[in-house]
Amino acid sequence: MLKKNDLVTLTVTDLTNEGMGVAKHEGYVLFIPKTAVGDIIEARVVKVLSSHGFAKCEKIITPSETRTETDCPVFSKCGGCLFRHIRYDAELAIKKSWVDEHFHRIGKLDVSCDTIIPSPSENGYRNKAQIPCAEDKDGKPAFGFFAPHSHRIIPCADCKLQPAFYAEITKAVEQWMKEYKISPYNEETHSGILRHLFIRDGRISGEVMVCLVANSKKLPHADVLVKMLLKTNPNITSIVLNVNQKPGNEILGLNCITLYGKSSIRDTLCGISFEISPLSFYQINHDGAEVLYRTAADFAELSEGDVLLDLYCGVGTIGLSMAHKTGKLIGVEVIPAAIENAKENARRNGITNAEFICADAGEAATKLANANMKPDVVIVDPPRKGCGEDVISAMKKLSPKRIVMVSCNSATAARDCARLKEIGYIPTKMRAVDMFPRTGHVECVVCLTRK
Ligand code: SAH
Repeated sequence: MLKKNDLVTLTVTDLTNEGMGVAKHEGYVLFIPKTAVGDIIEARVVKVLSSHGFAKCEKIITPSETRTETDCPVFSKCGGCLFRHIRYDAELAIKKSWVDEHFHRIGKLDVSCDTIIPSPSENGYRNKAQIPCAEDKDGKPAFGFFAPHSHRIIPCADCKLQPAFYAEITKAVEQWMKEYKISPYNEETHSGILRHLFIRDGRISGEVMVCLVANSKKLPHADVLVKMLLKTNPNITSIVLNVNQKPGNEILGLNCITLYGKSSIRDTLCGISFEISPLSFYQINHDGAEVLYRTAADFAELSEGDVLLDLYCGVGTIGLSMAHKTGKLIGVEVIPAAIENAKENARRNGITNAEFICADAGEAATKLANANMKPDVVIVDPPRKGCGEDVISAMKKLSPKRIVMVSCNSATAARDCARLKEIGYIPTKMRAVDMFPRTGHVECVVCLTRK
């Protein structure tokens, strides 16, 4: 039996979606962070549990052929990326296997991805960052990332997943904080002012939004900050204060106060122009989202006159990008600001066959089903926790020809598809789309057809 501090030689055979290499020592499973499939390593056992243990890689004896030089100085500490030490093609193969495995093991479903589509870019693809602000060890304001499973800040203004100008904006805010003695928020004492810096940019429009999330209704010296930001980046068209005075992990509060310019920014996705406010969800990989929506459109096979129900629609992006192929589009979303954006987005793009409902997806789907609505196709794009039980049960009565599920969490998607199979929907096609290169996330699209 292994003990803590034992030194063992291991061959890594698998990788979990938390970025843990998996290896066996005399049948006993060990997890070793940030290793690669095929590595032969010397590892120190750090924790022994009854069913499995954890070890730390001390020496790579023979590196995996998938290994590559890591290109980020904080890779070993930051919780953001899992894959900076292996080639992108190897990452894609692992991600496809995760999705397939979830559908086979959790969903007990006989469906696999026909392929995984890579992201058009591996770095700089993020059009949004929410950067935590906290005191560093010298008590100075610092922006950075939380270490994995912790709230310890690792100062780092620069992140390869986001465009380089985000770091310049971050530095400007940090300088303003130091000059005007603006305190970073302290989670433990619930004191201090600045909690997060939220930056978002429109990839086609070039518009940039800077949103300061603060534990106060007023930002001291906001006028100077506005000037400093505009000098740093002339593409900034919106500066917003988001008030979040609640303790806890929720990043944004509900109250947005515009400090400069407009209250939202614009961008174009699949040829449609979208207005996006700070509280609205918007896909973080613009070019990847176009690939994702094209896949969803292929699977939806809409024909003229079809009624399309788009559940969890956000600012309306998926449905509006397909509205020209349908007779009628109904979108449902729970965030009021997003629904306002969606209605405005339809109007501005001259789309007259769309209707948007601000409601819980399950409640709206149940109501529509009880009103005898018969959509031809339903698209669901739920958050990570998956679809509500009432969304699934409403499908029986709505009885669309096809359901297209878009999901950023293949584990809950597999569970939901299994529930849909029970009411007569068979998953016939599945494809993975990598929207989040280098991280442990992957998107999947499933087409379910009525029996
Ligand atoms: N389809 C959109 C948004 C997908 S993200 C896009 O591609 O951009 C999931 C969306 O579901 C978010 O906008 C979130 O606000 C919304 N949401 C979360 N829970 C919901 C619920 N119970 N009912 C309706 N919408 C919900």
